[in-house]
Amino acid sequence: LQPVYVIGGGLAGTEAAWQVARSGVPVVFYEMRPERLSPAHHTEHLAELVCSNSFGAMSADRAAGLLHEELRRLGSIVIGKADHHAVPAGGALAVDRAEFSRDLTETLAQHPLVDFRREEVRQIPTDGVVVLATGPLTSPDLTEDLRQFTGRDYMSFFDAASPIVVGESIDRDVAFMASRYDKGEAAYLNCPMNREQYLQFYQALCAAEQAPLKDFDRESAKFFEGCLPIEELAQRGEDTMRYGPLKPVGLFDSRLGDGRDPANRDKRPYAVVQLRQEDKAGQLWNMVGFQTNLRWGEQQRVFRMIPGLENAEFVRMGVMHRNTFINAPELLSATLQFKGRATLLAAGQLIGTEGYTAATAGGWLAGTNAARIARGLEPIALPPVTMSGALFEFISSASPKHFQPMPPNFGILPELPTKIRNKQERYGQYRDRALDELDRWKVESLGDRPAALVGAT
Ligand code: FAD
Repeated sequence: LQPVYVIGGGLAGTEAAWQVARSGVPVVFYEMRPERLSPAHHTEHLAELVCSNSFGAMSADRAAGLLHEELRRLGSIVIGKADHHAVPAGGALAVDRAEFSRDLTETLAQHPLVDFRREEVRQIPTDGVVVLATGPLTSPDLTEDLRQFTGRDYMSFFDAASPIVVGESIDRDVAFMASRYDKGEAAYLNCPMNREQYLQFYQALCAAEQAPLKDFDRESAKFFEGCLPIEELAQRGEDTMRYGPLKPVGLFDSRLGDGRDPANRDKRPYAVVQLRQEDKAGQLWNMVGFQTNLRWGEQQRVFRMIPGLENAEFVRMGVMHRNTFINAPELLSATLQFKGRATLLAAGQLIGTEGYTAATAGGWLAGTNAARIARGLEPIALPPVTMSGALFEFISSASPKHFQPMPPNFGILPELPTKIRNKQERYGQYRDRALDELDRWKVESLGDRPAALVGAT
């Protein structure tokens, strides 16, 4: 059997390399550290956790916890070691980061089918089955090669993302659907503000606390002119936002009458926050122009001052940081293969999933499929009602134009057949449906044996 090449020993690459080896396929596994460190990594160990030591909420009726449980059932080594090295963290799966990474490094290095090389890969290998998992801080030479492979418009280097809000947490008695000047279909949800509400919001935004930028983020931000954080726009003057993303012209709530009628002049909003639909089902809404560097707690506090968003539930907060990621909806299928080269797969933050657990899930799927391709088997996609399946379905089918990284969340799951108002109950049903379907799928698609072995002759 020809070896599979896995490039990058972060969470995704470590999981991928293990799944390849576990299925009996040799793997050449590259990690550039310690010869070369990224600006965020500090050790030579595999699966280094670059910031927090937490994989998120543990309970399976939370999005992260459901993904943990799916990965446990799929035989993930990263989640297995996380469970083994867990430390008390009040309902979250947090680990002793040093022990966790050291253990994974030893386990991988000792596997007889893993040829572990501490080298930087500067070009995508042109032959063989390859998994790219070099993360948000992929080294510059490889980034350039990948950019040539994908085409320059399909790579991003800086993530300046606005918060994403769960649709049903938006108060529709206040927010109204409309497109500016009623052009085309009413495509935006609009949160109108009167003058008083706007001024209070403006003052709160100016006074809100920002997260400190890392040096490498500050450098990257220079490449991102024209995409100013909302708080910086606010600081430029009281009306700057009203001439930018909060522009009210051409937006009127038709429930109040005809906006062009001069008699309705005083009903026209003073400012409007627009939200654009993020997913096909309309469960996720992106706050237009609200890329921000505010601390997450401050974002929740200040953005909930916007009329209609008082009870907003955020699935992703706004961020501005260096992040190399590809335009997955253009480039990848839900099996994590590149559409332009079926033997090239990718996983982790590089494909626009966000967070440690999502990177691990991508590593599981890319590694499983790489091994299957090496054995001449059909690649598989995970069931869309699972959190892992929904994540890869989302990143491979979202709108390419506005594509931004996505963490696991319940908004990306297909809706339940019946509407359940109680949130806890609803999330419990999502969990049960996902885990039942995963168990059924494992038997049907994998014969409940290690994924990559199924169908092997
Ligand atoms: P990584 O874990 O970054 O792994 C990629 C690996 O590839 C690295 O080991 C790197 O050295 C290696 N590599 C890069 N280029 C090459 C090359 N050319 N050849 C060989 N090896 C190479 N997520 C969270 O869930 N919680 C957090 O607290 C959090 N904090 C973050 C803080 C920062 C500063 C950054 C940048 C990201 C943070 N993230 C956080 C997101 C985080 O990056 C991902 O969740 C996760 O690390 C992604 O895993 P990955 O395997 O895709 O990438």
